[in-house]
Amino acid sequence: MTQRLEHCDILIIGAGPAGSVAAGILRKQGRQVLVLEKEQFPRFSIGESLLPQSMAYLDEAGMLQAVVEAGFQYKNGAAFVRGERYTEFDFRDKHSQGWGTTYQVQRARFDQVLAREAERMGAELRFRHEVLAVDVSGERPQVTARSAGGEEYRIDAGFLLDASGFARILPRLLDLEAPSTFPARGAIFTHIEDRIPPAGLDGVRFDRNKIRITTHPDHVDVWYWLIPFADGRCSIGVVAKQEFLAQYQGSDTERLQALVFEDPASRELLKNAQWDTPARQIVGYSSNVKSLAGKGYALLGNAGEFLDPVFSSGVTIAFKSASLACACLAREHAGETVDWQQDFAQPLKKGVDTFRAFVESWYAGGFQQIIFFENAQPDIRRRICAILAGYAWDDSNAYVRETKRRLATLEELCA
Ligand code: FAD
Repeated sequence: MTQRLEHCDILIIGAGPAGSVAAGILRKQGRQVLVLEKEQFPRFSIGESLLPQSMAYLDEAGMLQAVVEAGFQYKNGAAFVRGERYTEFDFRDKHSQGWGTTYQVQRARFDQVLAREAERMGAELRFRHEVLAVDVSGERPQVTARSAGGEEYRIDAGFLLDASGFARILPRLLDLEAPSTFPARGAIFTHIEDRIPPAGLDGVRFDRNKIRITTHPDHVDVWYWLIPFADGRCSIGVVAKQEFLAQYQGSDTERLQALVFEDPASRELLKNAQWDTPARQIVGYSSNVKSLAGKGYALLGNAGEFLDPVFSSGVTIAFKSASLACACLAREHAGETVDWQQDFAQPLKKGVDTFRAFVESWYAGGFQQIIFFENAQPDIRRRICAILAGYAWDDSNAYVRETKRRLATLEELCA
């Protein structure tokens, strides 16, 4: 039987943050947009702590009001803890212009809010429609998909945006995969009812308005996140090399508890917590590609490169990639010639490389010495704060222009 053939202007694979924000921006440009999403929403996703820079892209996509009104946990910074040491960054006191606050979000709901906004703006979203195959050899890309009812059909698109996240549809189907420069790390995580008193606990500083990043007492490259939500619950997780995690036996919840309780402050903070949701594990998530764009297609968010969760940069990078790609599509639509490497991949990579240098320095321990350094100059802290707030593309910041050199100098000074 011949498969049904449909036509569309822009086809987006995946309705995660990258896909929905791209759909919103394209609808504002007046483009026809079809989004195919494999799952039924709401569905669980990891990646719950946003950065203030992401608010600009929500605004650009016309989705900011819906996010603000959804009632997520307000976030104004990040707290870092190692043993007795504690330091916090308030994102409102940063070098770069722009938003200094954002949210900590349950992604099931956040992604649903964005997807609904994309629909409200006129994008067509098909849930439980899975992309199975892609052919980019012709004049226009063609996609084979399977509907919720099991019917297979083809779509011929003017342009294809792959926002399929860790499924990495185009990298896998078009042999674009490239090894990540990071070792294979894994994370074990869950949601708990934290029962942390609003005023905190004796001797343990805690602020619900900040993500709390704790370094393991004995291992500088093992760390925990605690991301409070608005409903008395929080996300908790641990990140370490896979071989380190493999030493811990039992269910994922038991392994996570064993690891978390090795840090005395976390143990105290969570002494009344209800561990009511089975933990899960994700391993080997860092990924890269040979190219972020080709004839008729571009890769957004995690379908392109994913670095590491430590600075909560994933959703911001996903939004940035959507914003840059949509600007290129607008120019092409207006008859201009676009060089996707120069106008999309390179500008995106600039911020990704800023985060990459910070991530490398974090795991080597240098960045941890920088943030816990007691006599830091306020101006330097404000520049670092701007990057932690997601302003990794702001050239007015020397730590963006020459990240590696500046970080190396600071590491030496703080050692
Ligand atoms: P996704 O959110 O993964 O969305 C992709 C969508 O595509 C999914 O809905 C999927 O169902 C759909 N899809 C997949 N295959 C198909 C198909 N064949 N057909 C149709 N649809 C398909 N980021 C942060 O900003 N803050 C954090 O605190 C943070 N913490 C993290 C912690 C960990 C342990 C990890 C691993 C990542 C974390 N991240 C964080 C990163 C964040 O999860 C991702 O960067 C972000 O979700 C990327 O968004 P996306 O839209 O590219 O992909």
